Amino acid sequence: MTNLFDTQLQPAPQQTPASPLIGLKVRLDRPVDREHPCCRNICVIAAGEAPYVGTLLCADCGQHRGWLSRSTAQWIEHIATHFGAPTTPIVVRKTHTYE
Ligand SMILES: [Zn+2]
Repeated sequence: MTNLFDTQLQPAPQQTPASPLIGLKVRLDRPVDREHPCCRNICVIAAGEAPYVGTLLCADCGQHRGWLSRSTAQWIEHIATHFGAPTTPIVVRKTHTYE
């Protein structure tokens, strides 16, 4: 029995997979976060728009705090895989983020 829809059921190639970091909490410690802190400066990583991997939203009030670049995401992933799932938020400093 042939299924004419077989070829259409293949997953689309080159689709960006959801970052494993989405939902992870990080603590921002950039100069701007010291000058203009938002709540506790704890952010949740949410899905971002290209070319960014994710967006940083304040964990307490949901305000947009910055973008997560691919290099920053890789850095966080490296830490998470090297040391295991962090029990305390990873601290993100100036050198890691792009505003
Ligand atoms: Zn806030």
